[in-house]
Formats: sequence, structure tokens, C-alpha cells
Amino acid sequence: MVGGPELESHHDTFTLLASLGFPVNPEATVLEGLEAAMAHCLHWQQHRHDLDYEIDGIVIKVDDLALQRELGATAKAPRWAIAYKFPPEERTTRLIEIGVSIGRTGRATPYAQLEPVFVGGSTVAMATLHNQDQVAFKDVRPGDLVIVRKAGDVIPEVVGPVLSERPEGLAPWVFPTNCPVCGHTLNRPVGESDHRCLNLRCPARVAGSIEHFASRGAMDIEGLGEQRVQQFCELGLLADVGDVYSLTETALLDIDKFQDKSVAKLLAAIDGSRTQPLARLLVGLNIRHLAGAGSQLLAAHFGHLDAIAAASVEELAAVEGVGTTIATSVADWFGDATNQAVIAKLRAAGVNFEGPAPSELPQTLAGLIVVVTGTLPGFTRDQAEAAIKGRGGKSPASVSKKTTALVVGAEPGASKITKATELGVPVLDLAGFMVLLETGTVPAPPGGTS
Ligand SMILES: [Zn+2]
Repeated sequence: MVGGPELESHHDTFTLLASLGFPVNPEATVLEGLEAAMAHCLHWQQHRHDLDYEIDGIVIKVDDLALQRELGATAKAPRWAIAYKFPPEERTTRLIEIGVSIGRTGRATPYAQLEPVFVGGSTVAMATLHNQDQVAFKDVRPGDLVIVRKAGDVIPEVVGPVLSERPEGLAPWVFPTNCPVCGHTLNRPVGESDHRCLNLRCPARVAGSIEHFASRGAMDIEGLGEQRVQQFCELGLLADVGDVYSLTETALLDIDKFQDKSVAKLLAAIDGSRTQPLARLLVGLNIRHLAGAGSQLLAAHFGHLDAIAAASVEELAAVEGVGTTIATSVADWFGDATNQAVIAKLRAAGVNFEGPAPSELPQTLAGLIVVVTGTLPGFTRDQAEAAIKGRGGKSPASVSKKTTALVVGAEPGASKITKATELGVPVLDLAGFMVLLETGTVPAPPGGTS
């Protein structure tokens, strides 16, 4: 520091900064030896909520500035400072009830309704319990005191019951036999972990499938999200995805609190979705087992929705990368009269049914290098690679400075992400990957300014 006092320790700098009017954390303190430092960390681990702000750990530094200089730094971090991170915070709360929610495929997912509890920086009142076996494995029962934490400090998770606190005579939870939304029998096929509501007209399934149709990975209709879809379904404006294109200005303007401007925007977004590629339409139809990769393959091979609808299971399964499971599911879907009625509505609305010329994918990725890490929903590793190579791109196993983009799925390799970040390689999620496959350009991050 030019002209200032000679400083000898880290806490001297804090004292100086405070005297100059800078805010300095009053909890910063000088301790002698490792044991005292450790005790200090454990103290704050227990008292972290006494503070008015959230902390996830403590930073311990060597105080002597001369010693700091001597220790120096590695390529990544100084050797004289280290962060002590607190373990994920756990709290106990009452499990009020176990509910079951129904998804777009009819999947019934049990979830815990909790007495609201503040954990890991936010109030948690609900946590997924995944399926029947998970509930049985954790043996959580409505009325139990349960331990709650945030997995990776983000997703709330019920760890298990506090058995010593279990009220006497508390009965184990039983999976409901009927759909809580429509009352239809819930079915769990042998060998599967999920229960399903098989009623195609189940309001929860209908709303879920329309939401999916409009989602970013499918027809990408901005403004047609969960709440709107539910509202439109309740008002009787939507009964299936075919009705999306029959929404009228008059009907929408009738809805309370729906402004002219947002009505116009939504109708424009719906109109624009008519020209989406065939593969996106296929994804949007919500055919079980058929996701992004399979849709791309079918669209490229058959070139038209009618050709896919007319194909036999054998013909569908003969497409490289499409197995019997997908083929059977697709053939069943198009064979159903209700679904045929939906297709008729979409056709009448002028929705694009045509794919790229059969077996000839556009070479959108020619000369580009796309690395994939982690699992992408709807793609096996081979399918993701095939989708890239089929469009003229390369898909090596590691990130380099020549990499165009890194696509990140679930449970990705941390080193690839670090490398990409260091090299400034764009990182994409599934939606970004779909855009890249289609257009050959790396989309701007959501909410980004570039
Ligand atoms: Zn149902």
C-alpha cells in the first residue's frame, strides 16, 4: 500500500479497513493453533442460524502476511487459506401426509407434505418420495417426525423417520389403489417401480401432456406453461393438444386478468409453433418411451408423420437406434382412435407434418465439435453421438479449446465442466442441445444478454 501503514497480519488489514469505514465482518477473529480453529468451525456449524444471513462454512487463513507470502499459491488457490464447508443441514419436522401426484404419462409419484421447516436457506413444505418402494424403504409414515435435508443443498429430501419419536400405533403408509385426480385404478406393472393412472382422460394427464406439448423441448410455445394450461383445461378450452390451435382471441380475452398484450403474444407463439420440425411434434405428442433422439431418427427416416403412423412395429423397429420398445409404443399410440382424432385436429390446424428428406439429415453441425457428458433424458450415449455425427459433427470424449459446445446432462463429469469453463467453451442443457442440432448455432444462455 503506497503511503499507508506497514501491515504485518491479515487482521491488521481488517482493522485498517474498518477504521476507514469499510464494512468488516465483526465475527472475524484471530485464533491460536488448529484445535482452536476447528472448535471455532464447529461452534459456527451449530450456531449458523444465529446470524442474520446464510453461511455455508468458514474460511480459515494464515494471519501472518510474511508467512502468507512464503506459502504462496498453487495454480488454483492460495496455500494460506482454506474453506471449511458445513455438512448438509438437517432439520426435523412433522410429516403431515403423503400425497400422490399424477404426471403427463400417468405416473403416480408420492410426495411428503411437511410442516414447513426452514432448512438450507429456504422453507420446505414438500419433498418427493419417488415411488412406493422408496416410501417402504424409508419407512416414513404420516404423523412421523422426519429428518429433512437438501440434497446438494438444493433439492429437499426426506432422509427418514426419527423412530424414537414415533407415536404409538402409527400405521405404515399404503399406496392408494385409485388415482387421486380421476378415481381410476392405479396400476403397477410387474417389474416396474411406478404406479400409473391408465385413464387417458385423467385431467392430470391431459394437463400434463398439453404442458409437455408446449414445453421448450417440444413445440416451444412461450406463455403456455403449467398454470395457463391448467386454467384453460378447467375452463374447458383445452381437452387435448389438438385444441391448442383452436384457442381464440375472444375466448382468451374473456378470461379474467388476461391482458390484450399477453393474449396477442400467446396466440402469436401458438401460431409460430405450426412450423416446428416434425421431430419436435413427435416429442410433443407424448408417446411413451419416445423422446428427442428417437423422434429425430423417426422423422429423418420416414420424412412424414403419416408415414410413421402407417408403419408397422417391424418397420419402426428396423430404424437404426429405434428399439422394439419405442416401435411398439409408437405403433400403439397411432393405432388409438383418440390419438387419431388429435392428429386430425393438428392436420386441420396446418401443423407441419413433414420431416427432413428421408435418411438425409441436414448437415447443421458440419465442422463442429460437440462433447456430451452425463445422461440426457431421451438419449442413450450412442443416440446422442449418432445425432451429432449424423449432422456432420464430431463428438470426441474430451473437451479441448476446439470444442464448439459441451452438452451437460444428469450426473455429468465435473472435470469436463471445469475444463469447458476454463476454456470458455459454451455449456448447454438438453434444450440448448436440441437448438444446436437443429440450427447448428450455439443458443445464448437463458436470460443471458449475449
Ligand atoms: Zn387419473
